[in-house]
Formats: sequence, C-alpha cells, structure tokens
Amino acid sequence: MINGNVAVVTGASRGIGRAIVRMLAKEGCHVAFNYLKSKEEAKALEAETRKFGVKCEASCVDIRDFDAVKHWIDATKKTFGQVDILVNNAGILMDKALMLMSPEEWAEVVNTNLTGMYNATRLCIVGLLKQKRGHVINISSVAGITGLARQANYAATKGGMIAFTKALAKEVASYGIRVNAVAPGYIETDMLSNLKDEQKNDITRKIPLGRIGTPEDIARCVKFLLSEEAQYIVGQVIQVDGGLAIR
Ligand code: NDP
Repeated sequence: MINGNVAVVTGASRGIGRAIVRMLAKEGCHVAFNYLKSKEEAKALEAETRKFGVKCEASCVDIRDFDAVKHWIDATKKTFGQVDILVNNAGILMDKALMLMSPEEWAEVVNTNLTGMYNATRLCIVGLLKQKRGHVINISSVAGITGLARQANYAATKGGMIAFTKALAKEVASYGIRVNAVAPGYIETDMLSNLKDEQKNDITRKIPLGRIGTPEDIARCVKFLLSEEAQYIVGQVIQVDGGLAIR
C-alpha cells in the first residue's frame, strides 16, 4: 500500500526514528528525515536506506525552528514531488523535579517535542489536504497518559501530542488523512542511556511482558497504522509498552 509513497520522519538519526526509516525503506517508501547533531549516524542511515532502491535524504534541520523546517519541507517537496506520510518522532527528555526545573528546561522540551510537531505538521498538512490522502503519525509516550515523576515538562508535551492528534484527526479525516499516535513505553535507545542496570532491572520487573521494548517494536506499530488493515483507525493512541501502562 505505501510502496512508492514519500515519507518525512523527524529526528531519525538514532533510536526509534532510525528504525521507522528502515521499515519505511523496506516497504518501498522514499524517505526524507532530519537530525540535529548526529551527522555521522544520519549519513550512514541515508546510505543504508538507499540500498533498498528508494530515494533518501538526511538533512540537518532544527525541528524547533519553523523557518528552517519550512525550507526543509519545501526542498523535500521539490526533490520528491510530494509528501504522503509524516512521522513526528523528534523528541528529548530533561527530567527534573518541578521545583528545580528552570524556564529553559521547560521551554527546551516544549519547543522540541510539541512545537516541533506543530512545525512539521503545519508545513505538510496543506499538501496532504490537496492530495486528499495521507498519514500523520505522532510518537507520543505512555508518560503523556499516566504521567511520571520528574517529567512534568516531558509528560506535558507527550499529553499535548495526544490532544493534538485527536483534534487534527477530527479536522482532516474527511479529506482521507488518518492522524494517529503511538505511545511507547520504555524502549532501548540512547534516551535510556542514563539509567543504571539496577534501574533497568526494576523497570523490567514492572513490565508484564518482561522486557524493555526495541525501536523495531515501535516501527512495526507504525507500519500497521499505515497499512490497509488500519484503514478505519483514526485519532487513536496505541500503547506499545509490553503492558506497562495497562489501564
Ligand atoms: P533518541 O534520543 O534515541 O533520538 C532522538 C532523535 O531526535 C535523534 O535522532 C535526535 O537527533 C533527534 N532530535 C532531537 N532534538 C532534535 C531537534 N531539535 N531537531 C531535530 N532532531 C532532533 O530518542 P528515541 O529514539 O528514544 O525517541 C524518539 C521519540 O520516541 C521521542 O519523541 C521520544 O520522546 C519518544 N519515546 C521514547 C521512549 C524511549 O523509551 N526511548 C519512550 C516513549 C517515547 P540528533 O541525535 O541528530 O540530535
């Protein structure tokens, strides 16, 4: 179904975004993705992706910067012709107790996770509406559903992504655009690199499936949401967390 489509993935030099780019390329999508700091990893992924016989462009673009994102999306449309799929994945953590959280630590997380999603979606949505088909998939977090101590900034953005998903889904579904979110639990990426082995063991014990997730677990869910099998699924948040946050 998505073979030959053009996908834009934000923040894909590492982790979950990288696994999503690999999945999309394997499915025959042309992919444009951005990154901020990890140039070497981004260029390696670009080369790896092209081996699947699809076009791939990695661009150094700060997702927080509307004008830079506009330049990137305009250039992507010129190179690839159009955008059919947008995956808003770029995100950061700056965990701290609220009483110690500075205005900068609040703003940094909001600007990356929430405003970054607005920037990319705002700049892709007109093309999607004109085409009368396409997908927006937002990578939220179970933290945006259940909350987590020391993550007031992060949880607020991830909860905001869920509300954005539902509002936009209602706005554009009649144009054939399906907007959905994925809420990962703990996934083995650099984002968990600050956790000690003991903390990871504690977390694993709390996960009913008994393991921390992989980036590929999330990519598989994105693949499903993009498929014909999910054609009647709109405005939903799918938890991919091994049962961590079963409600
Ligand atoms: P990583 O830290 O492994 O990767 C984050 C990616 O985002 C990198 O490619 C990074 O690029 C990019 N990025 C960060 N800031 C910017 C920016 N300003 N502009 C452009 N790109 C940027 O994170 P994960 O793969 O773990 O997380 C991906 C998403 O999944 C995030 O939204 C996260 O909140 C969410 N998530 C992750 C969970 C986990 O346990 N790992 C759990 C729940 C949700 P670069 O390296 O080039 O700076």
